Amino acid sequence: MGSVDSGADGRPSPCAADPGAEDRPSSPAADPGAEDRTTSATVDLAAKDRPAPPSGLGVYVHMPFCISRCRYCDFNSYAGLDALGPRYVDALLAEARRAVNCRDGLLAARQAASLYLGGGTPTVLPARLLLRLLVKLKETLPLDVGAEVTIEVNPETVVADTFRRLATAGVNRVSIGAQSAHFHVLEFLGRIHDSSRTEQAVVLARQAGIQRLNLDLIYGTPGESGEDWASSLDWALGLSPDHLSCYALTVEESTPYGRAVAAGVQRAPSEDDLAEKYELACERLRAAGFEHYEVSNWARPGQACRHNLLYWTGGDYLGLGAGAHSFLRGRRSWNVAHPTAYLANVEAGESPEAGSERIGPAERRLEALWLGLRLAAGLREESLEALGANQRALGEMLDSGLGERHDGRFRLTERGLFLADAIVADLAAGARVG
Ligand code: SF4
Repeated sequence: MGSVDSGADGRPSPCAADPGAEDRPSSPAADPGAEDRTTSATVDLAAKDRPAPPSGLGVYVHMPFCISRCRYCDFNSYAGLDALGPRYVDALLAEARRAVNCRDGLLAARQAASLYLGGGTPTVLPARLLLRLLVKLKETLPLDVGAEVTIEVNPETVVADTFRRLATAGVNRVSIGAQSAHFHVLEFLGRIHDSSRTEQAVVLARQAGIQRLNLDLIYGTPGESGEDWASSLDWALGLSPDHLSCYALTVEESTPYGRAVAAGVQRAPSEDDLAEKYELACERLRAAGFEHYEVSNWARPGQACRHNLLYWTGGDYLGLGAGAHSFLRGRRSWNVAHPTAYLANVEAGESPEAGSERIGPAERRLEALWLGLRLAAGLREESLEALGANQRALGEMLDSGLGERHDGRFRLTERGLFLADAIVADLAAGARVG
């Protein structure tokens, strides 16, 4: 297959097929967001009291490859496609150049504050390919000095050479899909590693000089006892990460686990079990000196994930790869999901964009409420009022201990954070979203 590196000779990639071109403001007066400004005052008010997004751009690169499919996972990832790796990396680089050339009004002069390689399992690809991707990507999309560069890895896919090469390419943060210390839990989930592989991966990352480390854990798997979860937390803390993400197991209809639950062969996690395990995570991680800064995320002081904060604070990000989403100046867009469709588009010199929408004031208000309350800092009461949050629901949350007032802000308590999705839906029921 020929190279898709259409910008390699210095010629800009063709922009005619750029579906974003018509949305690009040609002048301040033509800015399609201009008419929103008055009505968006309330959103801006709410945005002010969230942490400021990192000033630069976030870049997300989706790697849709996995060695095998886990039983609970509905991510856009595929087993057995890793032979496409070299073409896929070429396509990502071509898409990055296209994005810079065709959306220059949005990306020009913007340094990236974070670069995040996620998946799927990026480390399914050989380290030399990942190195090429990172080096070339940084030539197209320059990074800020001190930018956060994260790669997701699964323990079964890393060897010493992987981390050494990634570190030379500027990777300074690793997120490891550890999930559990217990083999029976990992086996149920369809994971193909055991805890010793996670321990090895942590040692190898540190030996390569990569100090920032996140571990992903899952709680609520059928057969996981309270003691199992407690010991998984203690085991993870013993590996000295600076960040932990703890997710409740969810039942996704399209997965083998989801189908087994629908057929009555497996049971779904019970809400009581999940609530107890969430509470235990809150207690243990607090006692270990971690700050609970978002519903499912804890970090040592100063070690919150800057890339995810950028999503949660309304910052701009560019997504590259199959199914990747972008959000730039109020316009959200997404790429075709399947890797072969993505390759077909990019290799034909076309945009891989499958759709887009401009985020209007009503949706922005809802997002401000949604994102603001998922962060532990919460929102200023003044902002909640401006967003039209349902006062009855607010009062009920205060009465029931799901929310609290602190220093002029309303924030969810730990019990409230566990129920954040339902709570925000309740608060939004009266919000001025129309
Ligand atoms: S390794 Fe991760 S992305 Fe791949 S199937 Fe398992 S959970 Fe999904």
